[in-house]
Amino acid sequence: MIYKERSLDELGVLKYTENQTVNRNIEMGVKVLVPISENEWKEIDVSKIRSTYLQQNETNGERMYYHLHPEFIDNEESICICSNCCSAIAKDKIPELSIANGVDFGDYNRIGLTKLNEYEMSIIAVVSTYFKIIKITTNDVRRNNFSCSKF
Ligand SMILES: [Zn+2]
Repeated sequence: MIYKERSLDELGVLKYTENQTVNRNIEMGVKVLVPISENEWKEIDVSKIRSTYLQQNETNGERMYYHLHPEFIDNEESICICSNCCSAIAKDKIPELSIANGVDFGDYNRIGLTKLNEYEMSIIAVVSTYFKIIKITTNDVRRNNFSCSKF
């Protein structure tokens, strides 16, 4: 996969629409309680859950939201984007596997949660992976009768 650096000026298709901006502003300040252990709850700012980058114009104070992970934007307000997304953006289309299209893996650090362990990840996984590794050759190189196998 080849990544290309793009500045926010080139990512107009990832800007929030007016309706999305209104909804985003409504979400700000809304807090929900989530369980973090059996007896502990934590208050989380709903607006931080969504992957949004806020660009603030220093001269006129205008605020513009982008469907981007804020953690991936550098100080120059540019971001590395994969070649598939770049070609969609070049055609003014929302990339298929993008936050703007509803695909968002989020970031637990953003809302102060801890990383899930293996068991917790398997519980919430959409797809479960089952596999079995079976050795079908013997360590005994002298053996040449494989009519009976033990597993
Ligand atoms: Zn991409």
